[in-house]
This record gives sequence, C-alpha cells and structure tokens, in this order.
Amino acid sequence: MASRDKVRHNYDHYDGHRYNDLNHRKYADGADVCIVGAGAAGGVLAYELSKAGLKVVVVEAGPYWNVQTDFASDELSMSQLAWQQTRLVSGKDPLDLGHNLTGRGVGGGTVHFTGVFFRFHESDFVVKTLDGVADDWPINYQDLARYYSKIERDIAVSGPRQFPWGSFSGPYPYPEREPISANSQLFRKGCEKIGIKSTVAPLAILSAPFEGRPPCINRGFCNQGCLPNAKFSTLIHHIPKAIQWGAEVLSDCMVTQVEVDKSGKVSGVLFNHQGKEYRQRAKIVILSAFVVETPRLLLNSACPQFPDGLANSSGLVGKGIMVHSSPDVYMKYHQEVRLYKGTPVLAVTQDFYETDSSRGFVRGYTLNAHGSRPVAMASGLANHANIWGKRLRDIMLNYNHYARVTVVGEVLPNLDNAVTLSDEKDEYGLPRAQVNFSYGENDNKLIAHAVDKCQQILEAVGCTDPIIVPDTAHLLGGCRMGNDPAKSVVNGFCQSHDIPNLYICDGSVFVTSGGGNPTETIMAIAARTADHIVGRI
Ligand SMILES: Cc1cc2nc3c(=O)[nH]c(=O)nc-3n(C[C@H](O)[C@H](O)[C@H](O)COP(=O)(O)OP(=O)(O)OC[C@H]3O[C@@H](n4cnc5c(N)ncnc54)[C@H](O)[C@@H]3O)c2cc1C
Ligand code: SF4
Repeated sequence: MASRDKVRHNYDHYDGHRYNDLNHRKYADGADVCIVGAGAAGGVLAYELSKAGLKVVVVEAGPYWNVQTDFASDELSMSQLAWQQTRLVSGKDPLDLGHNLTGRGVGGGTVHFTGVFFRFHESDFVVKTLDGVADDWPINYQDLARYYSKIERDIAVSGPRQFPWGSFSGPYPYPEREPISANSQLFRKGCEKIGIKSTVAPLAILSAPFEGRPPCINRGFCNQGCLPNAKFSTLIHHIPKAIQWGAEVLSDCMVTQVEVDKSGKVSGVLFNHQGKEYRQRAKIVILSAFVVETPRLLLNSACPQFPDGLANSSGLVGKGIMVHSSPDVYMKYHQEVRLYKGTPVLAVTQDFYETDSSRGFVRGYTLNAHGSRPVAMASGLANHANIWGKRLRDIMLNYNHYARVTVVGEVLPNLDNAVTLSDEKDEYGLPRAQVNFSYGENDNKLIAHAVDKCQQILEAVGCTDPIIVPDTAHLLGGCRMGNDPAKSVVNGFCQSHDIPNLYICDGSVFVTSGGGNPTETIMAIAARTADHIVGRI
C-alpha cells in the first residue's frame, strides 16, 4: 500500500498505516524481550536491545501516531495524546491525571512533553545521607553520567555552553535556542535584577537540522505533538530506529496480564487488541508502562505463586508515588508578552535546587519561564484556582499581557501516596487504579518559598496582579529501586528482586523525585538497564 505521507520520516512504519494484523506477528513464537509501553523508557530500551541483536517486541496500549496526519495545531483535539482512561483519585491533594501527567500511544509522554531536559544533580541520589529524609538510591550520578551524555548526543539536545548547576557544566551537543520568547526574556531580566542566575533551557528540541529533521520554528505547539518534528520523541526517534534493527511494535494493544510459569519466572504477557486476547511469549519482560499503569499491571497479575501481585514481596508495589509540585504564577505586564509564542520553556534557574537549611525545608526546585496556550491557561485558572465567570473572562481578555513562571519542586516520598486497585472495573474487566496523594509539610513549605520567588522575579520587571494556580507534574515512583529486597521492588539495574526475568524500567523506579524535569534521567536509566540485559542474556 502506498504511503500517505508527503514527507517520509523514518516513523513511517508499515507503509504509513498503523499495525493491525496480529495474525502475522514477527515473533509470534516468542521473543527475547517483550517491552510493555513505548514511551520514554520503552523507546530507549527497544532501540538499544534490538541494536544489540535481540528479538524485541514492544506492546503499546495506544495508537502508532502518524505525525503528518494525526497531529494538529489545536489544543483541544490533541488532548487525545494523553491517557484519558478513568482512574479514581483521593487524598488531601488529589491528582489531576489527564493531559498534564500521562501519555498514551507510541512515544508515550514524550509526544506531548515540553522537552525540558535536565540531568539529576549528585545530591539527588543521596538525600538520606545529606538531609536525613527519604532514602539514598542504589546508584549514583557517576553510574548514569555516560548514559546522560549518550542520550544528549543521540538526540542532539540543545543548550547553553555553560550550565551553572550540578555536575555537568556543558556544553550541550547543539547550541542554545535563540531567539528566546518574550516571556523568557522577562524572566531572565527579572532574575538578573534580584541576583538569581538563569540560563537558556537545555531542550530535547533542535536548534539546527539533525538527521533530516528541521530546527524549531517557534510555533509553540510542543504539548500538542510538534508537527514539524523539531521536538524529540521516542515516536520519531528511538522506535523507528528500533524497527530498523528488527524490533516489532504492536500498537493499540493493551497488556492485561504478565504471565508466570511453573518455575515462578515470567513467560510473557496477555494483551487485548480490538476485544480479542493474544499472548506474547518472551524470555524477559520489561514493564515500561508509566507510574500508574506499571504498578496496576503488577497488582493485576497476581497468581497462585504471587497472590499479592508480581514483584511485591516487599509490599511496596504502588507505594511511595511522587509528583513534582508545579504551581504556576501568572502576572500582568504593561506590554504584550503573548505566552503562546515559542517553545513553552526557554529559560530556567536551578539556583534553589540544593538544600539550604536557612529556608526551613530540605531539597529544592527549578523555576521554568513557561508559556501557555489560551485553553490551557483558562482551564488551569478554572480547574485549579477556582476562577470563573466575569473574573476569568477579564483575565483571558488580557491573555496577551500575562507572563508566567512554573515551579518544578521536589516532593518527598510517603508510602501513603499510592496506586492501589479499586473495586470498579474497566472495559477489560480489570480493577481500575485508585491513586491517593497528599503533600507533606516539607512539600508545602517548599511550594510557598518557590511561589514567592516566582513573584519576586516577575515583580522585579514591573509585573503586577499575581494569580497563583496550584498544579502538579511528572508522576514518579511506586516501584522504587534499592539494594534491600525488603525495602524496594527492583535492584539498581531495574531487575525485580523476586522474579529474575522481570524488569521494571520507567519513572516508577525513582527513589526520590529530584527538583527538576525527570525524563532525561528516565532515559539514562533505560539505556543502562539495556546494557545490563545485553551483558546478561
Ligand atoms: C504535558 C507534559 C509535559 C511534560 N514536560 C516534560 C518536560 O519538559 N521535561 C521532562 O523531563 N518531562 C516532561 N514530562 C514528563 C514525561 O513525559 C515523562 O516523564 C515520561 O514520558 C515518562 O516516561 P515513562 O517511560 O515512564 O512513561 P511514558 O512515556 O508515559 O510511557 C508509558 C507508555 O506505556 C503505555 N502503556 C501503559 N499501560 C499499558 C499497558 N497496560 N499495555 C501497553 N501499554 C501500556 C502508555 O500508553 C505509554 O505509551 C511531561 C509530561 C507531560 C504530560
Ligand atoms: S515550538 Fe518548536 S518544538 Fe514546539 S511544536 Fe513548534 S516547532 Fe515543535
């Protein structure tokens, strides 16, 4: 069948059409590795493992997006990129689990993420040692350093020559983006006025051509999928390359169960495609289905050998989930800012990332100068700040004058913040996820400090009338890594303590959340896990 694409990119899989024929599967008789979920981690794993010569099958619940025909520069229609299936939320600060937290489809969350690309700092891995809270990771910064560098090179991350915070001081492979948006210029000016260091953001977005893809043209539809392909996603980068190395990607296939054989090892997965059940056998299964769905699948896969769910001898599967606190501060400027223009985040500061005991809380945060499209702004004001009617209308009539800064704040783990199974069933007959979340005292103090800093930055350039919109971002944890099987779900290579051929590799293995956007760390951990599996199989 002829390709429907005018532009042929290497995502053009199965002649431009989504894979639909499950009777002719490449590895129907069994694969070396079955990866559940084709997002940030799943994409990297698929690429690295297939490149190493392994037979890889990726089973993905959502569609195989065709950038040219499925994406639009339209806020409302592109909410289809998110995981919108019903989940139940509870706690003092129930999470809003829609467009802002999860992706669904090949590429996962990377398809509609903002592209801000940070390494963790050394301190993130030793929080217990340094601050006496949470726990230390079983790996340290040096274990990930070369994988961070590899990922940055592989996808041509753009960023400043000098990055002032953490162990990596730059330069990034591609030059920093310019010009930066008016909102980011205001932010940088405000920071300078009150003595805060800032830089142009490191981004998984091209500042010059790379592998046939064009640089960013600043249209600002990054959270709608990026039609020009200037923004990295595993949909357009790792997955097509994995396919070229022989991997098979089964899209629109929802994994419902991980199967266990008589010896107590996993033997593959069951998945549902258009109402019909299929089985995929594999020597190794890797769950990369994101923070809510990975624990849900492990708990849903309970069987006589593992009645409490798979990999759950510690009882910690689903426990200790974290988000980033992510309040927005909007303020009015006397000239037009036009928040829709340009890549949403183009300037950042990590001056408040590390613990400073004089602040009265531990750990810290990143501030991102953050654009917003109008529908996102209006729905944030209405849903999270309870601003309705005339006030909402008046604010939105002044939309072009608003500047915005967003916090990405570390949230400490708490076992009561958890994914569990509810009594309600979904369309596959499986219990829906119940997601409980409340902030702790340290989290609330950190938020108050960060919001105050955002206001100070914008006031310094003459902005007025602050509006604070509480929000969260970047769900993490729930299958934490650790050396002690009684206190963790996987080891430092993401291998489950209980079942040697079951790996869990995605944002759920995080021990702490760090104070910055997490996806580069998720991808670096996936690349390291792939190396480990290749050395072992
Ligand atoms: C609006 C938005 C902006 C963001 N901006 C940034 C940013 O600027 N910087 C940053 O670092 N991070 C950002 N993130 C976060 C980033 O997208 C996530 O950290 C990252 O995608 C998580 O990777 P993952 O591999 O854990 O899961 P995902 O990328 O979510 O992939 C999981 C995949 O598993 C699939 N799946 C789930 N259950 C099943 C099942 N049962 N069977 C088969 N498949 C299944 C899903 O459909 C999905 O494709 C943003 C996220 C959003 C939503
Ligand atoms: S601003 Fe750049 S990265 Fe974002 S959608 Fe437009 S071209 Fe893509």
